[in-house]
Amino acid sequence: QKEAIPSPSTRFPIYYTYKPDTMVTSTVLGFPRMGPNRELKKALEAHWAGKISEADLLATAKDLRLKHWKLQKEQGVDVVASNDFSLYDHVLDHSVMFNVIPERYTKFNLSTTETFFAMGRGLQRAATESASAVDVTSQEMVKWFDSNYHFMRPEFSNKTEFKLNTTKPVDEYLEAKAAGIATRPVLLGPVSFLYLGKATKDSTGLETISLLEKLLPVYQELLGKLAEAGAEWVQIDEPILVFDLPENVRAAYKKAYEALASATKPKIMFATYFGELGSNLDVVKGLPVEGIHVDLVRAPQQLDSVLDILNDTQVFSAGVVNGRNIWKTNLEEAVATVQKIAQKIGAERVNVAGSSSFLHTPHTLESETKLPEDVKQWFAFAKEKVRELAVIAKAVAQGPAEVREELEANKKAMAARKASNFATVQAVRERQSKVTGDDYKRKSPFATRKEVQKEKLNLPEFPTTTIGSFPQTKEIRVARQKHTKGELSPEEYEKFIEREIQEVVKFQEECGLDVLVHGEPERSDMSEYFGQRLDGILFTVSGWVQSYGSRCVRPPIIAGDISRPHPMTVKESKYAQSLTDKPMKGMLTGPVTLLRWSFPRDDAPDALQAEQLALALRDEVLDLEAAGIYVIQVDEPALREGLPLRKADWAPYLDWAVKAFQLSTAGVEDRTQIHSHFCYSDFNDIFDSIKALDADVTTIENSKSDMKLLKAFKTGNYEAWVGPGVYDIHSPRVPSVEEIVERAKEMLEVIPRDLLWINPDCGLKTRGWAETKAALINLVEAAKDASVSW
Ligand code: GLN
Ligand code: ZN
Repeated sequence: QKEAIPSPSTRFPIYYTYKPDTMVTSTVLGFPRMGPNRELKKALEAHWAGKISEADLLATAKDLRLKHWKLQKEQGVDVVASNDFSLYDHVLDHSVMFNVIPERYTKFNLSTTETFFAMGRGLQRAATESASAVDVTSQEMVKWFDSNYHFMRPEFSNKTEFKLNTTKPVDEYLEAKAAGIATRPVLLGPVSFLYLGKATKDSTGLETISLLEKLLPVYQELLGKLAEAGAEWVQIDEPILVFDLPENVRAAYKKAYEALASATKPKIMFATYFGELGSNLDVVKGLPVEGIHVDLVRAPQQLDSVLDILNDTQVFSAGVVNGRNIWKTNLEEAVATVQKIAQKIGAERVNVAGSSSFLHTPHTLESETKLPEDVKQWFAFAKEKVRELAVIAKAVAQGPAEVREELEANKKAMAARKASNFATVQAVRERQSKVTGDDYKRKSPFATRKEVQKEKLNLPEFPTTTIGSFPQTKEIRVARQKHTKGELSPEEYEKFIEREIQEVVKFQEECGLDVLVHGEPERSDMSEYFGQRLDGILFTVSGWVQSYGSRCVRPPIIAGDISRPHPMTVKESKYAQSLTDKPMKGMLTGPVTLLRWSFPRDDAPDALQAEQLALALRDEVLDLEAAGIYVIQVDEPALREGLPLRKADWAPYLDWAVKAFQLSTAGVEDRTQIHSHFCYSDFNDIFDSIKALDADVTTIENSKSDMKLLKAFKTGNYEAWVGPGVYDIHSPRVPSVEEIVERAKEMLEVIPRDLLWINPDCGLKTRGWAETKAALINLVEAAKDASVSW
């Protein structure tokens, strides 16, 4: 049955209220959406599969929201967020709410929820008696800043007519209020919303920020409704202020927030996160907002400068609990920071907060049944982080005695982690201290290696290869699960993997590929597989974090100095090589990608962790070479996405990232061919770094781009081999021979004939066998055609 939404004027039994005697307020910027057992994921997928109704899905979502609010309040925190929940993505929520819905979705007469999901994941539906067929692709999906969360990019056009389609933030505010919980709704701010979006094709040249004036009235309307519903505060996120911004976007802030201030509205907590306000500090100074939140975990150095720009009444929200990682906060330090702030501006003007939303951390540590108790003490997931906020605020407001036990337990845990033999491993540190400049350099320059490799590998013109994985079939997943559960013995599993490798090798020989791969059937995931084989890295059983929509990932945790106890991939590669006379390509995930797709340590710099990973991989590379594997690929799909948010920070990042790749690969003989692989990346602005990797062959996802991506290879005097992908592996579509030939011909306009390789865009693990075979047969045919006829 449907509950009536109570009217805002009704008096509610607010049993969780702000505590007037607590002068420092603890606040949560956002909480994970999925639920402790990924209930939301399951409900979404069941709904998409037609197994549960929309009403059932919405009921699950409502239930989760309520549970999450209650759970947070029970941790003793003062203010929790609402409208941080989304069925798919909060940016997409804003697009639908403000009617930023491209025409291609509006023509099918879909319901609001159907439209929302169509924009998030596309919709393909056959015609029925009452409705015509629907076939529409999703919106573009983009990384949310430098996190592993992805958002659906809003599409603006000259025709966009902003209006309030839904009142989701108001509805959810009232929903919490009805349960007795006063929340602080969160919105994405108008300037960030416009700037993170793009112009549609029919409006090329449109600067999205120019729509600000048209957009502001709907924000005003929404804020008015929130005020009317009783919201005292609203959190407005403007995270783009941690980027280097064009002048017109910076200038938009004054206009936007003055307009919002001119109408009825709740008090505004203006929030930035993931970095430093830095050069945008002047933009925030003087804005008519009642509070300012900044990230003091990523950018503690900005504390004084931000305090300096506050007016006499503005509230300062100190982001002192890391929203992006899973380590316990050092409460002693956090309390000291907050005390210092309270002394300066008065406790009643201070909020204690997460550095960002806790969306990027797993739900609760309580689910971790497999971590040893002493190790578990090092971590705080979302629920535990909420408690940390409450404890910090209490310690500052009421004195440390109030929460002495928790402060002491925290101190103990901090010390234990430091003292554990996990954190620092002498042998690893010693080895790092012995790394010299030569370790980053191949024995000879590429020109020399090229000749040696040509002779040794004896490859034809336009050599063909694949990027590593072959279809991960259901049988493979079932066998892996059985193996994990102990239903399949290690010997049986090994035999199973060998049979898979045989099949992959046999097919590649039949179809005539030149450099073969073993297909990666033994790998669940390209970072997890290596993480599980390295010392210093831990795994969770339920540490799921939303990546996009219903998709969650369970990042490994780098917990201490990393080393490689045993070879990780040699057995499979060696076995695969034994089955063929053609060169077998060894396959490794690179140091930067392993680091970027994990939770890194917070007690050691990224550069140090990357170097440890690199040394472990270097040993693996040399073991592969010693085992007779003379082509070795090191995948670095995350190298480009790891670029810092501000350009000024690029150089130091690129320095250690490039070195880590070099250190991993440079130990081999000239004859051994090093491949690197990147998924879709615009290299033009970091081309010197790509060159500096000094790989012999670089393969990149390219089929969907125009040749712009390859421009750098032409203009940048690139002289090593390149394999730009000739077909898209995200779709089951089989490219024809002619199509691949056309594609290769285009590439030859940019890349010299003797440097071009022919390969798919990326690994084939998500594809079925039928289309994989057909596509690769055509690919080989096209490469042969090319070399004979042009
Ligand atoms: N070798 C990996 C594979 O083929 C590369 C995956 C990737 O680049 N994301 O699956
Ligand atoms: Zn790839």
